[in-house]
Amino acid sequence: MAEELTFKDLDLSPEVMDSLKKMGVKRPTTIQQKAIPLMMDNISVIAKAPTGTGKTFAFGIPIIEYLNLDSKMVQALILCPTRELALQITTELKGLARFIKGFRIASLIGGQSMRLQTERLQKNPQIIVATPGRLIDMVERRLVDISNIYTLVLDEADEMLKMGFISDIRKVMALTPKDKQIALFSATMPREIQNITWQFMQDAAEIDVMPKEEDHPDIDQFIIECPEKDKLNAIVNIMEKESLRKVIVFCNTKTTTSKVGDMLTAKGLSAKVLHGDIGQGARNKVMDQYRADKFDVLVATDVVARGIDVDDIEAIFNYDIPKENELYLHRIGRTARAGKSGKAFSLVAYLDRPRMEEIIRYTKVNPVPYETLKES
Ligand code: ADP
Ligand code: MG
Repeated sequence: MAEELTFKDLDLSPEVMDSLKKMGVKRPTTIQQKAIPLMMDNISVIAKAPTGTGKTFAFGIPIIEYLNLDSKMVQALILCPTRELALQITTELKGLARFIKGFRIASLIGGQSMRLQTERLQKNPQIIVATPGRLIDMVERRLVDISNIYTLVLDEADEMLKMGFISDIRKVMALTPKDKQIALFSATMPREIQNITWQFMQDAAEIDVMPKEEDHPDIDQFIIECPEKDKLNAIVNIMEKESLRKVIVFCNTKTTTSKVGDMLTAKGLSAKVLHGDIGQGARNKVMDQYRADKFDVLVATDVVARGIDVDDIEAIFNYDIPKENELYLHRIGRTARAGKSGKAFSLVAYLDRPRMEEIIRYTKVNPVPYETLKES
């Protein structure tokens, strides 16, 4: 089959090559090898690829390479389902363009003041990263003009549809040039997405990346078989053995996060809890404290997993085994960010075994039994 492409083969600018080097990114992932050449040729793509395989750079690099830095028009619009993700994409693209003078990007998301965002727009960004609701709101108030864009990215399209953004996406299609390039990324391809692609993306190239071990960043994954009641002690023991400090403990429910948070605190760890019922303001505050190393253990549900873009997380624990296969990849993807390595520990009670086996089959991950514990 096709041979491996390097970043050099992709004909990137020296600025982008330098920033990749600076970020410790060496080799393009499969989705990057497939999507970047197509997008650089102005071809629309419909890409299905698992979580954590580098989709942001897959669309970010071609967009950045083709930006007209002299123009004041918005040239690329990136839509994604959540505020956290929008901020994360913005940060990643800023990193990628760090050596490009005159590069301007702005995020437009719900929950932030309109005035602040209007001020950002007055700087004439070439790229806008937005959640659909806020974008439409601002377009309708004529605060932003998307009628001249070259490229539209729909990131995590399946999530956007789940969140009810379909009519907003249709509006964006109508408000942007007919001949624009569209890049649609999704982990799954439900019927609703096929409907969009049939209607708006008939000439697109399709990319289907299967889950593959080497596309996942450098994460050592372990399984610890232990009864439900011993899970907490197992976490504490492993943290000590492995000299881990900054970790995330994932649970499936809010109730469990609160319980686990309390118990870890009782054991003398500095832990804080984050879940969907905690308001955005409080969530941001906890995340800021976590980034600033004000506490060590973040106990969280999957609702917040997507937004956790902290660079120096040493390990994640699955206190509960996730109910969906994709979530496993989301969770482990919180560690080993920005070219660093990381560890993931899954605590598997007897009843969790079938779930864990299914995750392994589907995601092609390869966690190994964690043996060190038994020595003591
Ligand atoms: P996805 O959108 O597919 O879930 P992301 O684009 O968020 O994945 O990338 C996941 C992580 O992998 C990020 O921390 C990113 O910096 C890193 N990454 C992206 N491309 C590469 C690469 N070619 N080599 C190493 N790490 C990469
Ligand atoms: Mg992504």
